[in-house]
Amino acid sequence: MVLRTVAGAGPGVRTGEDVEDLRSWLQRLDGGPPVHETVLLACPQHGDERPTWAFVEADASTGIARRRCLACAASMPLLESERHWTHPPMFACAGCGHSIAEVAAGLSVPDGQHVTWVVLAARCVECGRLGGLTDVVLPDVPLAEVLASL
Ligand SMILES: [Zn+2]
Ligand SMILES: [Zn+2]
Repeated sequence: MVLRTVAGAGPGVRTGEDVEDLRSWLQRLDGGPPVHETVLLACPQHGDERPTWAFVEADASTGIARRRCLACAASMPLLESERHWTHPPMFACAGCGHSIAEVAAGLSVPDGQHVTWVVLAARCVECGRLGGLTDVVLPDVPLAEVLASL
């Protein structure tokens, strides 16, 4: 189930200097459940220096997404996106058209332990524009399980 609050929503067109701006943008989203945690999504294949630049494919209407690390091309689906893949087009910034983005997830964790909603947003690394990618409602999935499949 998907809320479809993200695409085109949010507090107007915003740009962000860095991923901290992206995280605070996620926390201020209107129209969805409260976001309690934000996570910058980096590629886990690189030891301590985890690159954050990625190509992203996301479908706002079905709650699926997948990103591909710019450095190593590793593919990282959001949750069970691969099972329901709809072949959405690659993300392109609505402002400048570039496709490389930094991606962060906002999690609604009402009881502090179980996630009920995940929202994904991107920051264009070229012009800094912030925007929602997709969101998905979850049936009280344990936080650790969600963090392992972002
Ligand atoms: Zn990588
Ligand atoms: Zn841009």
